[in-house]
Amino acid sequence: MRLTPQGGRIMGAPARVLVTGAGGFIGHHLVERLKADGHWVRGADVKLPEFGASRADEFELLDLRCAEHCRRATRRIDLVYNLAADVGGIGYVGTRQAEIARNNTLINVHMLDAARAEGVQRFLFSSSACVYPQFRQTSEHARPLREVDAVPADPEPGYGWEKLYTEQLCAYYTRDHGLDTRCVRFQNVYGPLGTYDGGREKAPAAISRKVASARDGDTIEVWGDGKQTRSFTYVDDCVEGLLRIMESRCRDPLNLGTDRLVTIDELVDLVCAAAGKRLVKRHVMDRPQGVRGRNSDNTKLREVLGWEPSISLEQGLAVTYRWIEGELVRRARAAQKAIVPVKARALDGAPARS
Ligand code: NAD
Repeated sequence: MRLTPQGGRIMGAPARVLVTGAGGFIGHHLVERLKADGHWVRGADVKLPEFGASRADEFELLDLRCAEHCRRATRRIDLVYNLAADVGGIGYVGTRQAEIARNNTLINVHMLDAARAEGVQRFLFSSSACVYPQFRQTSEHARPLREVDAVPADPEPGYGWEKLYTEQLCAYYTRDHGLDTRCVRFQNVYGPLGTYDGGREKAPAAISRKVASARDGDTIEVWGDGKQTRSFTYVDDCVEGLLRIMESRCRDPLNLGTDRLVTIDELVDLVCAAAGKRLVKRHVMDRPQGVRGRNSDNTKLREVLGWEPSISLEQGLAVTYRWIEGELVRRARAAQKAIVPVKARALDGAPARS
């Protein structure tokens, strides 16, 4: 690996890179991009990517809660993008606080220690906007959050506390062991090849699925009163930001998101526009809504990188919606194909086994 005199990597110089969570949404996209840029990539995850083969040079099925597996993952590696986490949408992280905090603590403690022991040059930790205090997010017009706002701490229980603690752990490993770390606070990343059902999906994917499954004029369920606000980041912008932050010299946590605030109702309207459908919203108040309003302040990101995410919500949602709609059609066709032979066998008098 080639370094500049200031210790930054020369942009684009090939490296041996580990992506943990490479079977997941952001990790899969990141592997694609790193390969396209000419790097040697090892992916590690408990599962393979769901929606297409990984382009990683090596893909290891590892449980990174285990110290030994983390040592295997980090051997002969220059750069680590540590994206593995037990994570999901609001209905998931709000109901499994002990399990999520335990799993992610184990992953991150063992990954940091393995990176130190194996002499990794730089370690990037995927943190979250969930580290920000809940008391700063009580209004839909809440002030955009700057990195310094994370303390005094009052993060999201379970998931957010673990992320905030691991950011600190990264700083301790830098200070005490000289491990060069980066911390990125993602803000609602969305795009194709992400989970869109089963309970772990986030709002843009869940809404796209509901809209794709509805006929023009139908009613769809929206969690909360629809006036809660968020900002969203398209996955290509997220990957670009990850590479730039890894290359940068900034060891402090950085927001990585857009600062366009929209209500959940506006998000639904944008997906409906992408689908060319007019739907009625039924707000369900007994489902989780998370904080009332959250936006990213990108001042520091712009200062450090001279760059910020720029792909519009309209563009990103159009691509995401088309992909989810296509997936639902593909799944329905596959299910029908599986039924037809069973029916045919039943008509022939053969036993109808699936
Ligand atoms: P994802 O769930 O698609 O990917 C996470 C991957 O980690 C999964 O493939 C999962 O199998 C893997 N994993 C979980 N436990 C593991 C273990 N014990 N060993 C090995 N692999 C394990 O999620 P994502 O959206 O791609 O998120 C990537 C990272 O970004 C996570 O750290 C997440 O907390 C963070 N983040 C994401 C968002 C977002 O909006 N997507 C927002 C904030 C933070």
